[in-house]
Amino acid sequence: MKRELTITIDGPAGSGKSTIAKLVAKHLNYLYIDTGATYRAVTWKAMRNGVNLKDEEALVRLAVETEVELRKAEDGLEVYVDGQNVTGEIRIPEVTNNVFYLARLAGVRERMVNIQREMGRQGAVVVEGRDIGTVVFPQADYKFYLDASLKERARRRFKELSAREHKVDLKQVEKEVKVRDNEDEGREIAPLKIAEGAIVIDSTEMRIEEEVSAILKYIREN
Ligand code: C5P
Repeated sequence: MKRELTITIDGPAGSGKSTIAKLVAKHLNYLYIDTGATYRAVTWKAMRNGVNLKDEEALVRLAVETEVELRKAEDGLEVYVDGQNVTGEIRIPEVTNNVFYLARLAGVRERMVNIQREMGRQGAVVVEGRDIGTVVFPQADYKFYLDASLKERARRRFKELSAREHKVDLKQVEKEVKVRDNEDEGREIAPLKIAEGAIVIDSTEMRIEEEVSAILKYIREN
């Protein structure tokens, strides 16, 4: 196998991208890059600074001025905004539900894509997000697109939030996942879609280990 591959995994919320990307990276001893964390990080800062989320210019300015850093940690990644560790805070539902205000802006995406490309520049990376195979690393060696039914994705997200002791309701979570799908698939710039040449995996009825094995097997054999 060629060394220092660039592997991309895209897909909708709750498709299991992060879990799978993390494990594939671990198996290959590659760096795992969670690009959603970069959008979450800037959203967190905008909210903390009380920036009007409808003020597009202010959001782009903020994104350009903000230092976002992903640092490898024991069990994944730590996320830093201007040197402050925000790993836990960027996962709260309020941040999740506000990311679209920033993710739809060309100026914000340009800045995030630059940060992401810089992190993945040397290869040996598994990069996960919505537009990685289409926009960020269109020349990647291997591209995957993970999907699962809406019900299953909502169930996974519900489990994840409950484990972090958020008070959540399954029906509400399903509604929020659906809204996020529509925003990610419907935006004009870099919408979520299957990249050319991507291998599509429907994980609705697959176990995590099965998905990881399927991806590693594909990489070994192709
Ligand atoms: O992957 P995660 O759920 O953490 O992503 C949060 C949000 O960030 C997504 O709903 C999407 O709007 C945005 N995002 C994006 N492009 C990426 C990764 C995430 O627009 N490459």
